[in-house]
Amino acid sequence: MNIRNIAIIAHVDHGKTTLVDKMIHACKVFKEHQVTGDLIMDNNDLERERGITILAKNVSLTYKGIKINTIDTPGHSDFGGEVERVLNMADGVLLLVDAFEGPMPQTRFVLEKAIQMGLKPIVVINKVDKENCTPDDVHEQVFELMFNLDATDDQLDFPTIYGSAKQGWMSTDWKKKTDNIDALLDCIVENIPEPKVEQGSLQLLITSLDYSNYIGRIAIGRVHRGSLSPGQPISLMKKDGKIEKSRIKELYVFDGLEKVKAEKSKLVISVQ
Ligand code: GDP
Repeated sequence: MNIRNIAIIAHVDHGKTTLVDKMIHACKVFKEHQVTGDLIMDNNDLERERGITILAKNVSLTYKGIKINTIDTPGHSDFGGEVERVLNMADGVLLLVDAFEGPMPQTRFVLEKAIQMGLKPIVVINKVDKENCTPDDVHEQVFELMFNLDATDDQLDFPTIYGSAKQGWMSTDWKKKTDNIDALLDCIVENIPEPKVEQGSLQLLITSLDYSNYIGRIAIGRVHRGSLSPGQPISLMKKDGKIEKSRIKELYVFDGLEKVKAEKSKLVISVQ
């Protein structure tokens, strides 16, 4: 299956939750009978209260037959090591910036890491519906920021999408309002490279851990080589150099807002 893995970088309140919510609705993740509230990404009450989105939440969307995995990144540098691990899941980044405030210093750290890792950026200038916003100046500021972070020519040639996540539209031109977010989804599909998975024996980079009362410890990661299936014997490489023999008990892939059981995977996956 055709896949795009993108990490979203945004300063708090620039509209990440609202945008992902619109992406989820545009890609009809929900079955007809499911009731949907707003702001799905912030499904944790505490988080809602604080207005921040927690670490490494993955949402998987299907647009025109292509699976778009969105990977949340912490918006600031307090999570040093976490940032790099999370970015390892992605082949591109979506830098979301408020059209009024412009890029904020707090996102610089994560963006710098993404640039150093060679990820392709797409810039989304959000909230162009705000009075007195300056999308063109903000675009200029983002360019300058990336230039100062030593972005390559290809990275500096980033596509820019403008719009209002709140009003549910995105466009290549902020003066030309649309009635959907297809411009952004098309831009992701066209500009973010497909993940490369090498042939050979399995190599999976674990980027985070999860836990379920039913199945126990869950490793979440990305396959860089080979593929996975339930029952497969594996070697778990520990930080201290020890190698532990194990076996994949169950295999899941991200699908919409959930994980679903899978038989074989070359994707962003979770194993026990
Ligand atoms: P997050 O912290 O980046 O996840 O930001 P949220 O999605 O929670 O949005 C923060 C605030 O900005 C909320 O009050 C949103 O309603 C508002 N907001 C999000 N997108 C837009 C937009 O396109 N235009 C305007 N005017 N407000 C927006």
